Amino acid sequence: MSPRKGQPHDHAFDTDTLQEKANRIRREQGLPPEAEESPRPCHWYDDGHGGRFLIPGCAARAQDPDSTTACTCPVLAGQLAVARSDIERLTSELHGARTWHAHVSLAVDAHPDGRKIMKAAADRAETAR
Ligand SMILES: [Zn+2]
Repeated sequence: MSPRKGQPHDHAFDTDTLQEKANRIRREQGLPPEAEESPRPCHWYDDGHGGRFLIPGCAARAQDPDSTTACTCPVLAGQLAVARSDIERLTSELHGARTWHAHVSLAVDAHPDGRKIMKAAADRAETAR
């Protein structure tokens, strides 16, 4: 990563792990280390120029901006569970589609007009791109 424009590059940071870099940036912004932060994702970002932004932001925190408990954003564990569920569903759908494709290909290949049918399918696929 290149240094920011106008800021000297400090080579002491070159060997930082990603977690160390994240914690250094958080410390510079007055935030606690990630491990000590509330499990709720909403937090205030101070841009250092008078700007304050609620990230990612939700209606509950918008109504009660300084609350530390009124956040309805999904927690990381919940997002991970949803992502895993999506992957499981998509993997199952992909398996079903592959199985269907293999059986259709075998049926078309066994058909007397199989080559014409495959050519027509290829042409359709090409125009659908
Ligand atoms: Zn929130």
